[in-house]
Amino acid sequence: MLQDTRATTTVASRATIAHSGLRLEPGIPICQTDLPLDWYQEELKPYAEEYLALPDRTPETVLPWLDSYARPALSHFGDSLLLLAHFYMGGEIVKLVERYGGSVSDSYALALQAVRRPEKKVIVESAVHFMAEAIAILANDDQEVWITNPKAGCTMELLAKDHLVMPIADQLLERYGDELVVIAYMNTSGRLKALAGRTGGAVCTSSNAHLVLEWARAQGKKILFVPDQHLGRNTARRIGMDDSRLLTLPDPQTYAGGYALDDGTIAGGVRALDQAEMILWASHCSVHTVFRPEMVHWWRDRGWRVLVHPESTLEVVLAADGSGSTNYLWNEVMSAPRGAKLAIGTEGHFVRNARAEGRKRGVEVAHLADIPELGRGAAGCGCATMSRNDPPHLAGMLDLLRRGEAPDLNRVLAGDSVDEITGARDRLSPEERRELIRHAKAALERMIEITETDRQH
Ligand code: SF4
Repeated sequence: MLQDTRATTTVASRATIAHSGLRLEPGIPICQTDLPLDWYQEELKPYAEEYLALPDRTPETVLPWLDSYARPALSHFGDSLLLLAHFYMGGEIVKLVERYGGSVSDSYALALQAVRRPEKKVIVESAVHFMAEAIAILANDDQEVWITNPKAGCTMELLAKDHLVMPIADQLLERYGDELVVIAYMNTSGRLKALAGRTGGAVCTSSNAHLVLEWARAQGKKILFVPDQHLGRNTARRIGMDDSRLLTLPDPQTYAGGYALDDGTIAGGVRALDQAEMILWASHCSVHTVFRPEMVHWWRDRGWRVLVHPESTLEVVLAADGSGSTNYLWNEVMSAPRGAKLAIGTEGHFVRNARAEGRKRGVEVAHLADIPELGRGAAGCGCATMSRNDPPHLAGMLDLLRRGEAPDLNRVLAGDSVDEITGARDRLSPEERRELIRHAKAALERMIEITETDRQH
C-alpha cells in the first residue's frame, strides 16, 4: 500500500494553490484520528506517486502537472463535465475546482447541481460520500456522478449507518406507526433519506433545519431526527420546542449491537419515548464538538464577535453571538464592516478560506479554537475525511474518466453503502435502487419545496 506521506496529524505539508499565486499555508490539525489519510486505490497510485515525486508543492510546479491531466479531460467532455467541491475542502482543491470552471458550495446547493444543470452529464465531486449520493438521487438517468475518493466519508454519518439506525427506527415505527415522522439531516446515507421519505418526512440541511422541523411539528407528529443530536437540539431551541420534550437515544458507539426500546437502555424507557416530541439520534461531528463556551468567552473578552455552526453543542451556540450554516457564516464575513473581528467556530479549511477573503475586505477572521493558552493548532480542526480528496485524486479521476477507465468504486449510485475503513461498497439491486430513489427523492424534494416556499415569502 502506498503510504500517503502528506499527513499523519496535519495536512500541513501540502501547498495551497491560490489565485494570488505561490503561497504556503500553515497546517490544519485534524481532529478525527479514526480514519487516517493513508489510502489510494490501485488505479490512482500512479498519480499519487507522480504528485509525491514533484520537486515542490508550489503552484508553478503543481499546476502544470495537474493541467496535463485536467485540460485534456475538460476538452474531451466539454460542457457536459461538472466539477464540484464543498466549502470544507482544503483551499487547494477549492481553487483547483474553480480554476477548471467548477462550483464550490454548501451541501444544499451541491445537492441541487445535477437537477438544475441537466446539460451536465459527468459530475465529479470532491467532497464526502453523502453529498455525492444526494446529487445522484436527484440526478436524471443520463447523468453520472463520480467521487474522487470513495473512502471520503463523514464521521457523523458513520455513526448512523442504516444497520445501526434501522433496528431502532423499525421498533419506533411499530410503536407509533403513522404518528412518527423521520427528518434526516443531509449528512445521512440515501438509505436513511429514503426512510424519511417513507414516513412522509423530509431531508434538511443546517440552513433550513428550522423550517423543516417547524413543518414537521405543524403536523402534530412525533419526530425522529437523524443523525446529529446537536443540530437537532439547537434547532429545537430555535423553534421554541421545550427541552423536556427531547429524548436523546443512547450513544450508537456504545450500543452498536442494538437494543430493545423497553430493555432499560433508553433513559426513562418507553414512557419517556411516549412523552417526547422529538427523538434525537446520538451522532455528532467530531470537528464541531471541540468547541467550548470558554473559547467563546475568550474571544468575546477581547472584543471579537463569535459565530458558530449549529453542529456545535447547545452550550456553545447559546454562548455565541450567532449561529448558522456555512452559508450564513460566509455571508456574515462578506457583509461585515471593515474593521470587524469575527471568531468562527466551524471547520478549519472553511475558516482559512474565510480569513483570506475577509483580509481583502479589512475584516479579521480567527478560528474559535485558535487560542494559544489552550494549546490549539494554528487554524482549528479540518475535516480529515473530506481532506481525503486531494490533487492526485482529482487528476487521476479526470484522466481515468477521459480514458474510459474510471474505477467502478468511484461511481456513486443511490443506495450505495460504503465502508470507509475498507473501501468496500454494498450496492443495491436496480429494483431496490429505484425504490430507494423514489422515497429519498420525495424527502429531498419536500425539503426543497419547504425551503423555496419560505424564500418566496
Ligand atoms: S465536518 Fe463533520 S459533519 Fe461535516 S463532513 Fe466532516 S465529519 Fe461530517
